[in-house]
Amino acid sequence: MTRVCVPVCDKDLSAGERAVEWADLIELRLDCLEEIPENLNDITQKHPRPLILTFRPSEEGGHRNITREQRQTFWNSVAPRAESIWWDVEGDLTNDLAPDWSRVIVSHHDFSGVPADLNSIYERLAQTPAAVVKIAVQANDILDCLPVFELLDRARGEGREIIAIAMGNAGITTRVLGPSRGAFLTYGSLDDDSATAPGQVTARKLRSLYHIDTIDDETMICGLVGLPVMHSVSPHIHNAAFVSEGINGVYLPLEVHDALEFFKRMVHPRTRELSWNLRGLSITAPHKQAVMECLDSIDPDAKEIGAVNTVVIEEDRLLGYNTDAAGFIEPVLKRFGPLRDAKVAMIGAGGAARAAVWALNRESATVTLFARNVTKAQPLASLFGISCKSLSEASFDGFDLVINATPLGSGAYVDQSPATREQLRGAGCVYDLIYNPRETRLLREARDAGCDALGGLEMLVAQARRQFELWTGKKVSHGFSQVTDSTL
Ligand code: NAP
Repeated sequence: MTRVCVPVCDKDLSAGERAVEWADLIELRLDCLEEIPENLNDITQKHPRPLILTFRPSEEGGHRNITREQRQTFWNSVAPRAESIWWDVEGDLTNDLAPDWSRVIVSHHDFSGVPADLNSIYERLAQTPAAVVKIAVQANDILDCLPVFELLDRARGEGREIIAIAMGNAGITTRVLGPSRGAFLTYGSLDDDSATAPGQVTARKLRSLYHIDTIDDETMICGLVGLPVMHSVSPHIHNAAFVSEGINGVYLPLEVHDALEFFKRMVHPRTRELSWNLRGLSITAPHKQAVMECLDSIDPDAKEIGAVNTVVIEEDRLLGYNTDAAGFIEPVLKRFGPLRDAKVAMIGAGGAARAAVWALNRESATVTLFARNVTKAQPLASLFGISCKSLSEASFDGFDLVINATPLGSGAYVDQSPATREQLRGAGCVYDLIYNPRETRLLREARDAGCDALGGLEMLVAQARRQFELWTGKKVSHGFSQVTDSTL
């Protein structure tokens, strides 16, 4: 059974009413209250959802500097409770309280990392009479999820109820997959800015994006491997596609620092330390080249491009593909038809440019690479037999297509553009691979210069559709892009 608990940590208890929509249980973080109301017992007994009462000291991540004695006095003042009220108490108090243990969660938090004695901590808490053991540790790397999943498996095997969480962005898999692996509950915040622990996603996202209520042992798991990944819209695309295609699947952001270790310890079926139904991965910066050495087989096109953005896990083998190239060229061919001898300017010489130049070469276009650092970009130009020029002072007059494959126009560079309208005057079409925002500064400059303009969303959808087909073996219906438009 999947339970989502929404923690409410506010100056008063009113936010608890909003939490009802997404929560199976609500955690009232009493340590956050400006004042503990005198009628606390009345309020809690009448609440429309089961409650977890928590009075957390600052050293365990709480918002109050309270001594052990103050906590003890507080709990002894809370009246005998209704069936639906749980207490979450820290492990150091268990010998001094005499509550109804059948509704007590005994908890331990470590905000610095995964303690070496994680199993001893579990054993100590499991010896208490509390109904549920809770252990939350900080994941500084996705590999830190491994001991947390092990703990879930151990507790399940021993018939002990447990909440085990790896906090931080790298720990999101434990939050989403935990309930399907036996966790008593998972926490989801009320709003984007009201998380009570690092890496906590909203309860709404747990339910409407990751569809946590339908995840079970059979669910096929896919994910995006990169650093960073939390900003990505790929989970919106693929999770919506799983629903629209009627497939029991979930797609997660996987924040990975060391791709080789991740593939060895969590991905490759022959070496991984986690038993999970992982079936497909998208690979993004900075790992598109590094992962190639982890694979059993690489599609010839991806080999030629020199980058893999898609991995299929088939029985005990890992197969690598590149869907960026086909995703890139599809919207161009749709708009312009054949590109033979078209004059194309490619700005940027990173991973996306690599796949795009390969695809353009295959269409017999004539490509010129423009880079801020010609020396650095030259190897890519030489690999594909194209010329390379400096971006500064470039003029794009006479080019049929000008492509931006730099991050200028998004994220921290949202107000920047790799080319001015003066530079673009006389060009045919400007294709910005950036999809967020949909209307970049470059595209505005392009329109002002009288050029046609194409954004990166169509490429994103086209490459994602191919990934989805590789993982599921299903030709995806037109619903894929419709869903995408409505979720972005
Ligand atoms: P990447 O491998 O990091 O390459 C970025 C390229 O941009 C490098 O050549 C870099 O030059 C250059 N660059 C960075 N800052 C620059 C600046 N201030 N001025 C001039 N050049 C600069 O990144 P990528 O994976 O190729 O991605 C590039 C862009 O394409 C990103 O915005 C990404 O979101 C977008 N993209 C979109 C899709 C899609 O589906 N629509 C797919 C993939 C990528 P140096 O080598 O000198 O740093």
